[in-house]
Amino acid sequence: MKIGLPKEIKVKENRVALTPGGVATLLRRGHSVTVERGAGVGSGIADSEYEKAGATMGSAADAWAAEMVVKVKEPIASEYPYLRPDLLLFTYLHLAADQPLTDALLKAGTTGIAYETVQLDDGSLPLLTPMSEVAGRLSVQAGAYHLQKPVGGRGVLLGGVPGVQPGHVTILGGGVVGTNAAKMAMGLGAKVTILDVSQRRLAYLDDVFFGKLTTMMSSEANIRALLPDTDLLIGGVLIPGAKAPHLVTRDMLSLMPEGSVIVDVAVDQGGCVETIHATTHDDPTYVIDGVVHYGVANMPGAVPRTSTFALTNATFPYALMLADHGLDALKKNKALRLGLNTYGGKLTYAGVAEAFGMES
Ligand code: NAD
Repeated sequence: MKIGLPKEIKVKENRVALTPGGVATLLRRGHSVTVERGAGVGSGIADSEYEKAGATMGSAADAWAAEMVVKVKEPIASEYPYLRPDLLLFTYLHLAADQPLTDALLKAGTTGIAYETVQLDDGSLPLLTPMSEVAGRLSVQAGAYHLQKPVGGRGVLLGGVPGVQPGHVTILGGGVVGTNAAKMAMGLGAKVTILDVSQRRLAYLDDVFFGKLTTMMSSEANIRALLPDTDLLIGGVLIPGAKAPHLVTRDMLSLMPEGSVIVDVAVDQGGCVETIHATTHDDPTYVIDGVVHYGVANMPGAVPRTSTFALTNATFPYALMLADHGLDALKKNKALRLGLNTYGGKLTYAGVAEAFGMES
């Protein structure tokens, strides 16, 4: 199959959807890959590395002319003219939130397979997990930095020093984000408390961390009791398909110490802190009632090199299946089949169709 790798042109998007290693594997399997010049630069991958792997370098139009285009972000309006009926597009699409793109894909008759709806039998979303891992780990780095006095924080070193108590990190939600945040916070030597509504999840966390962190059932009473002793609060709650619940309301901020920090990773689903709103890497924080709020909605964008390799580790096996078998790959793999969002001018994913009041 002919595969195309365009450069991401959405503002501040520095990831790329295939690594030179991936290109080499595709070529060994008899496929050809056209890479747009400069596609990997934001992730520290030079054109020469793709060339060495055997890719043909070209323009955006050359890459988009392939049978299958592999991308990171959804196409933006200037890319819509590249959509056509015999194109297979494999990327994050997030169609439920994007009517213009949905219309463009349907009008063009493009086959769109979305990373975010590829789903395993246990309900997990394998192509979203790596970005939650990155964001969870970053949340502690970001929080530790913003706790420093010169940038408006409380002036607490999370790990403490001998003779001085460590900082206290409270984590709401013990899923992928929460578990990765806990790992990093414990690695720094912080005291960690993690709350979840799932007793099974709490038991799992207690097991894997050998009881070295405190697990608590997520309830308003428990959260209120913890806030006065919390230096860094991390939000990692997810209720699939719904807005995050506001577990920390405006009035609860006054319970937190002056200069304490909230990193609400769940901000992309509305956040689990009432006062959080989306911010950017250029201006990541603001202060309400003396509490520093960090609400960057695309945290993995800060570390595109790590994020590119993390994302492609997860996406590549599916890209390879599509290259090897074309759309027959969907018959062979149920998880991938759930990724199909548009086909032949129709919406094929119920959740997206419902969002637009259309039939799937
Ligand atoms: P996940 O499904 O792995 O974990 C969510 C956890 O929240 C589950 O364990 C669930 O039991 C728990 N939960 C549900 N209701 C709760 C409640 N009331 N109190 C406490 N816990 C509760 O999800 P995830 O992959 O960890 O993602 C978490 C959030 O982070 C999502 O909103 C995701 O979109 C977001 N995210 C944001 C970024 C970013 O850059 N800001 C990046 C990646 C992920």
